Amino acid sequence: MNNGKKFGFTTTILHSDRQKPIEHGSLHKPIHTAVAYSYRDARELAQVFQGKKPGYRYGRQGNPTINALEDKITRMEDGMATLCFSTGMAAIGAVVQALLRNGDHVVSSSFLFGNTNSLWQTVNLQGMPVSFVDATRVDNVERAITSATRMVFVETIANPRTQIADLARIGELCRERGILYVVDNTMTSPYLFRPKQVGASLVLNALTKSIGGHGNALGGSLTDTGLFDWTRYPNIADNYKRFAPAQWGIAQLRAKALRDFGGALGPEAAHHLAVGSETMALRIERESASALALANMLNADERVAAVYYPGLPSHPQHRLATELFRAYGGLFSFELNTGIDCFDYLNRLQLAISASNLGDTRTLVIPVAHTIYHEMGPERRASMGIAESLIRVSVGIEDTEDLLDDFRQALEQ
Ligand SMILES: *Cc1c(COP(=O)(O)O)cnc(C)c1O
Repeated sequence: MNNGKKFGFTTTILHSDRQKPIEHGSLHKPIHTAVAYSYRDARELAQVFQGKKPGYRYGRQGNPTINALEDKITRMEDGMATLCFSTGMAAIGAVVQALLRNGDHVVSSSFLFGNTNSLWQTVNLQGMPVSFVDATRVDNVERAITSATRMVFVETIANPRTQIADLARIGELCRERGILYVVDNTMTSPYLFRPKQVGASLVLNALTKSIGGHGNALGGSLTDTGLFDWTRYPNIADNYKRFAPAQWGIAQLRAKALRDFGGALGPEAAHHLAVGSETMALRIERESASALALANMLNADERVAAVYYPGLPSHPQHRLATELFRAYGGLFSFELNTGIDCFDYLNRLQLAISASNLGDTRTLVIPVAHTIYHEMGPERRASMGIAESLIRVSVGIEDTEDLLDDFRQALEQ
C-alpha cells in the first residue's frame, strides 16, 4: 500500500492499521488493555520516560489501540498528529487546560453545541474572557479580537440551527494575526469537510457522533493540522521546546491536558470507534440523501413554519456549504406552525426516536429548548436563534422512504 498512491477516503481508513505491523497478522488493531509497559531493563524504561526512546509509559498518556485510532483520524483529517480523549467535551477542555493562561481572551462563535457554550461560561469565570460573536461574518470576529486574543473557536455547521461559520475568511484572519484557529468538525466530519483546507490549526471531532456512528462509545479527538506556527504562541512551556516546533502544541496537549487532567479514551471505546469509522462515508452519504429529502418534504408543507438545513437553497449559507462540503450532512432542524404541539408531533413519530445524541445509525429527534438547551434560559436561546418549538433531527441510515412516511404520517394525524 505504500507506493505513494493516494487512496480514497474509505480505502485509506480500512487499510490504516496495516501501515504499521499489526501483531500476529491481525487485520484489526487488537484491544490492548495493559495500563503499564515494561522494557528490557530499568535504564530503557527511563529512556522511554525521558522521550529519548519511543514507547508507552502509562495508559493515561497513550496505548497502541488508541494510537492506531489516532493515526486513522490523522489520515482522515490530512493532519500532522492526533490525540484522543474520553469524550468530545474532554477534547475541548484539553484545549483550555493546556493552551490558555489567565488573562487570555477567546473569540467563539455564538452558535454552539450547548455544552460547549456552558464550558465557555466556566472558562470566563476562571479568568479567561470569552467573546461570543456571530461567526457567519468574519468582520464580527475581527472586531472582537484584542491583543490578548489567543484563540478563535467555531463549529463548521452549528448544532442545532445549522448556521455555517465564514470558515475560510476566519482562517485567513487567524493566520494574519497568528491566532490559533480551532474548528469543531463534528457536524461535518472529515468525510464532508477537512478544516485544514480553510487554515484550521486544531481540528476537534466528537468521535461519539458520525465517526463512531453507532451510539455505542464516547470519544473525542484533536488533530494538529501542522499549519500553525507554534513559535508564535506565547504559552508553550520551555519543557516542550526541546522538540521540533511543529510538535510543540501536541507535546504540551499530551502532557498538560491528557497526562495532568486524565481524560483518556478507553481502549475498548477506541476499538468501537475505529470499527465504526470504517463505514462512515457510506453512512453519511445515506444520511445526507435522506436529510435532504426530509428537509424538502417538510419545507413544502404548510404545517411547517421553518426548516433549517444547509442543503435548502433558502438557507443563508447554502452557497458556502455547496462550495465547501461534499454533501450537506444528516442534521436539520425545523419548527412546526403554532397550534401544533412539538411534543405531540414527536410522540406520533414511530421510527424516529426521541433521544439526545446525533450521528447514530438510527434517526433521533429532540425538542432542543426543553432538553439540551434548557439550562441556558430563554434569552440566550433566542440570541442563538433557537425557538421554543424547535425540533432537531439527526437522520440515521433507515430507508429513505420509511423516514419520509414516518415524518408525513405524524403531520397528518
Ligand atoms: C456532541 C458534540 C460535542 C461533545 O462530544 P461528546 O463526545 O458528547 O462529549 C462537541 N461538539 C459538537 C458539535 C457536538 O455535537
